[in-house]
Amino acid sequence: MSENKILPAVSVFLGKGYSHFIDGAYLPGASGQTIDVINPDNGATLATVQEASAAEITQAVASARRAFKGTWAAVSPAQRALLINRFADLIETHGEELAQLESLCSGKSIQLERMLEIGFSATSLRHYAGSATRLNGETITPSFPSMMGEQYTAFTRREPVGVVAGIVPWNFAIMIGLWKIGAALATGCTIVLKPSPFTPLSLLRVAELAIEAGIPAGVVNVLNGGGQLGQTLINDPDIAKVSFTGSVPTGIEVGKAAMAANLTRVSLELGGKNAAALLADVDIDAAVGGIIQTSYVHQGQVCAAPERLYVHRSIVEPFTRKLAAALQQLKIGSPLDETAQFGPLSNAAHLDKVMGYFKHAAEHNTVICGGKRIERPGYYVEPTVVLANGAQDPLLREEIFGPILTVVPFDTDDELVTCMNDTPYGLTASVWTNDLSRALRLIPQIEAGTVYLNMHTFLDPAVPFGGVKASGIGREFGSAFIDDYTELKSVIVRY
Ligand code: NAD
Repeated sequence: MSENKILPAVSVFLGKGYSHFIDGAYLPGASGQTIDVINPDNGATLATVQEASAAEITQAVASARRAFKGTWAAVSPAQRALLINRFADLIETHGEELAQLESLCSGKSIQLERMLEIGFSATSLRHYAGSATRLNGETITPSFPSMMGEQYTAFTRREPVGVVAGIVPWNFAIMIGLWKIGAALATGCTIVLKPSPFTPLSLLRVAELAIEAGIPAGVVNVLNGGGQLGQTLINDPDIAKVSFTGSVPTGIEVGKAAMAANLTRVSLELGGKNAAALLADVDIDAAVGGIIQTSYVHQGQVCAAPERLYVHRSIVEPFTRKLAAALQQLKIGSPLDETAQFGPLSNAAHLDKVMGYFKHAAEHNTVICGGKRIERPGYYVEPTVVLANGAQDPLLREEIFGPILTVVPFDTDDELVTCMNDTPYGLTASVWTNDLSRALRLIPQIEAGTVYLNMHTFLDPAVPFGGVKASGIGREFGSAFIDDYTELKSVIVRY
């Protein structure tokens, strides 16, 4: 085993006892309530964090508002770009420390932490930095006729919306937090982040690094707490936009609260019940490798990962046999073990949820492999494949967000499209085939924000990402985030 030694900086950070990061410093919480942060590898308490009360929410939002109108407004776009790049450099410099911290709290493999939470986050920040100097409107020639010889000209400006509330789930706390921070910083907004109570520590360290990079105090604030804190934050009259990533039921509550608060702008990046389709001509061995990489990475706790697998009837038997054999070979191990390929679920509540689906599968489905808890400390379960039990099977309809893949045989392309779209969700989908013409005919018929071909779950800061149907409103990445974090102001001039 090549288990990583915990860095001294991580041990020191864990030992400190945390509150909230407001106006560039830690502020003790007045609520007297605390949250225990649990290591999913063994169930032990890693740290205790104070829970924010209404008083800290007011202070955090006020500090973000002061920075938005003051210090941050005085920073030129070019200087903002420089600061974001410096911040990205610091995320990388402290990458191993952040990766270990988040791996301990979330159970995510250290390799994935390094690649995505650190590497991809730094790349995304640099992408946003490049946008900071390109927030341009357009010049317009009004067509209204001149009555007395006067002339008109018009132009639009992109102006930052103001203070953003960024609400973050537990599956990729650093990466998703940094997407929201990067978009806010690039556009001239300030932000109050609320991580999940399961993974509250790493974004506190990220906020410290923002200060070290030279980003003014108050631009990035972090409050800790659960759903109630999220609701109170959304209700603050100085919140101009809510950027939410999480589940569909919470997203609906967040959307309603934002509308009721002040018709507050809201973007919702929500869950999925993503489908992958293996056509008859697919290279079975390559598809087995590809599906393992995407459906079981981070134990299936990835919003974009496929949970429904439509397999052409002619290849169901060899494909499922090879998939089961390969899954049984995965090395199960601690998140800090660099050689482990499959680790624990992130928290006890989620373990209970997944165990509920195992029980259902044992009673109603053919279980091809897995379906049990693994006998060791922590929240480990087996990578699992089941055959669907009819179109109404809850395993086909509900987002599990875990390592359970439900397989459905299909015969025709028309049947495939109907089945893939038979869901309230629409985050991602994939088609696996070498028949390009067929794939290109299928893609427009599939209801999803992103459709992949011969791959699944790939994100890039240049490519818009988000859901259709119940999987959300709005897009991260691409140029779409600029629309989401800025207001378009029209200026009309008479001369
Ligand atoms: P969740 O909806 O339970 O919680 C998300 C965040 O919202 C947490 O910070 C939580 O404390 C907060 N929250 C809970 N109730 C709230 C309320 N009433 N008002 C305001 N905030 C509230 O989700 P989770 O379990 O942390 O994360 C898993 C979910 O996130 C899955 O459904 C997954 O698909 C989704 N997700 C989506 C994306 C995406 O980009 N589309 C990315 C990652 C995760």
